[in-house]
Amino acid sequence: DCYVADLLTPLLMSAKAIAQEKNIKLKADIPQDLPLVKVNMKALQEVLSNIIDNALKYTPTGGKIYIQVGQEKVNFQGIAISDNGPGIPPEDLAHLGERHYRGVQAQTKIPGTGLGLAIAKQLIEQMQGEIEIFSPAINSKLTSPNAPGTTFIIWLPISQ
Ligand code: ATP
Ligand code: MG
Repeated sequence: DCYVADLLTPLLMSAKAIAQEKNIKLKADIPQDLPLVKVNMKALQEVLSNIIDNALKYTPTGGKIYIQVGQEKVNFQGIAISDNGPGIPPEDLAHLGERHYRGVQAQTKIPGTGLGLAIAKQLIEQMQGEIEIFSPAINSKLTSPNAPGTTFIIWLPISQ
């Protein structure tokens, strides 16, 4: 079991350094006294770093990333990672989580192996959590017609 805040704090430190280099605004809302979640810390760290890594990688210079932690669903704690990058078209959305699948905008010039989300999905399933992907992003602070953005929400089982 672990506290999401304990895990996110160091991850955010390195993410902020990368964001700064790319002139991306990274904002995180992590409330105090969140409940314990019933997950393996190493696995959750892997999941979050893959998704934050994607947000940093696919969001162009000058973009925004917003990370929000909160308890919004019975027995589950949600972590939302939103960006105002290019978004993920429906034809790609259907394939995310397949090993080595890379989306249209990634194939061109952004390097990667297409494994990050496949691994993340598998780990989340193992911890009996859920992952939701919204593109256009559902964070209205970020969404614009030119940059539809992407929101990932990871739902983690709360320890009783
Ligand atoms: P890597 O194995 O290095 O992570 P990758 O980033 O291409 O490679 P995934 O993390 O699995 O692989 O992501 C799969 C595809 O989903 C990407 O190729 C990209 O097209 C799309 N994608 C993922 N996250 C985002 C995002 N935040 N914005 C836009 N597209 C994204
Ligand atoms: Mg990736």
